[in-house]
Amino acid sequence: MDNEGFRIPRRFVARDAVVDEVERLDKAIAAAAGEIAHHRETVAAELGEKYGAIFEAHLQMLQDSRLRSELEEMIRQRHYSPEYAVSRTLRRYAQVFQRLESSYLSERASDIFDIEKRLLRHLLGRRREGIAHLTSPVLVLAHNLTPSETANLDRRFVRGFVTEIGGPGSHTAIVAEALEIPAVVGTGPFLTEVSGGDLVIIDGDKGLVILQPDEEALARYRHEAEELRTLAAKLEPLRDLPAETLDGVRVQLMGNIEFPYEVDHCVDRGADGVGLYRTEFLYLGAEIEPTEESHFQAYSRVVLAMNDKPVTIRTFDLGADKMPNIPHFDDERNPSLGLRSIRLALRSLPVFRTQLRAALRATALGNLQIMFPLICTLMELRQAKMVLADVMEDLQEHHVPFNRDVPVGMMVETPAAVIMIDHFVDEVDFLSIGTNDLIQYTLAVDRSNKEVVGLYNPADPAVLKLIAMSIAAADRKQVPINMCGQMSGSPLYTMLLLGMGLRRFSVTPSAIPEVKNICRKVTLTDCQAVAARVMTMENARDVKSYLKEEVKKRIQAIVPE
Ligand code: PEP
Ligand code: MG
Repeated sequence: MDNEGFRIPRRFVARDAVVDEVERLDKAIAAAAGEIAHHRETVAAELGEKYGAIFEAHLQMLQDSRLRSELEEMIRQRHYSPEYAVSRTLRRYAQVFQRLESSYLSERASDIFDIEKRLLRHLLGRRREGIAHLTSPVLVLAHNLTPSETANLDRRFVRGFVTEIGGPGSHTAIVAEALEIPAVVGTGPFLTEVSGGDLVIIDGDKGLVILQPDEEALARYRHEAEELRTLAAKLEPLRDLPAETLDGVRVQLMGNIEFPYEVDHCVDRGADGVGLYRTEFLYLGAEIEPTEESHFQAYSRVVLAMNDKPVTIRTFDLGADKMPNIPHFDDERNPSLGLRSIRLALRSLPVFRTQLRAALRATALGNLQIMFPLICTLMELRQAKMVLADVMEDLQEHHVPFNRDVPVGMMVETPAAVIMIDHFVDEVDFLSIGTNDLIQYTLAVDRSNKEVVGLYNPADPAVLKLIAMSIAAADRKQVPINMCGQMSGSPLYTMLLLGMGLRRFSVTPSAIPEVKNICRKVTLTDCQAVAARVMTMENARDVKSYLKEEVKKRIQAIVPE
């Protein structure tokens, strides 16, 4: 995708259409040149000749006869469409500039992109395609995709995506898991190296993107893909078996979902419930605020499909990288520390109440529980519970059925919540550790920032200590505690978490079979020994390499990082 989110198509032209296509190219060049000349004059008149000269340079590049003949040759000899020829050629030019040492010259690459964009706009005219109406399989390669853009990708056709920015903890990456498509985020700049139609391999497990792979790489990856399919088929019979260790400890293995349809993925994988329903995606996909009825429809679908197994509705966790289309505060410099999540809910009471009404109504249909995100202080928890109690009164007054004893819990995803955990356990029915944010706030690393991705580490001893504290406090008061951050779905950490005392895991549905496989191949005593050893370690690297070895010893399968 280009920077404006449009597809750069690869098309070939029929032999007898070559003359017309060259003519189309010439018309586009002429139109683009007219446009640039017009800009040059306006800018020169308003700001002076010096600034007009910027466009003069563009004009010269565009009208360069070598460029024109190179494009023509691609159309005549290789039968490339003019769009494809333009994007291939100008991207190659831009690359040459980008590689130059001088920053002044390397920045000229953006002038070339400007010309490419202008030409493509004229060539494609109104036929410019986004990725909303795909008709054949594609890989999406983009500078950035927001979580809601990702959520709107058409799963039938998008076979994988890569973004130049973002981190593995971002919701864009999380949504990729929900869609069950391979993805790599935060690669850094690479879009100039590819154009539509190139052959690309996306290796989501290793975080690799291979452009124009050779035969050997292709063969290797075809083989690996086949092995992964075999592994998935091997794990399929686990569906109806319990997640139970060799020494008989039963583990609850639930699914995380973002969209109601994913409840089917949970059922297919034999999940023990939905441990986290990220309801904010209802807002992200909508132009306007969802109505009580649309909330209710979504929750009913999930609760009924789970057939009495628990479903945990997390109230909307908007803000930071999840910005809805509905009006919001957009002048935050540091949105992860800003008005997000429960803070936003408590500041937007009518929106919050609408959601709570729908969730409470859905409690009448099955086994539903309500959870508040990003709780930092007891006051916040109490306020949220007060709003809930108030909505309950309202429903009661209107004789609307709901379960007054609905379990109410909170996420543990800030160091403050862990430090005060002994107080929190007295005021909730259950807890759920959100490691994605807990890591971000404990280690002070933005989960969506590729520059600090190396510091974003679930295995960091500081994070592990906070997890251990939370589990211990919950156990003391017999309050059920779940983990629903990405860490709980990574097979690397299953033994450790079991050994630390965790008995409830909520993971992306596709990870259920692998985590269950590990649970069924280990004993608790074994896991406790592993955990005890890990808790003596001083750095994440040691923890990771030790865990990798330990898991490998017991499981003859791939252990992704
Ligand atoms: C978390 O922070 O771990 C979590 C599960 O919530 P989210 O990823 O939606 O912030
Ligand atoms: Mg979170």
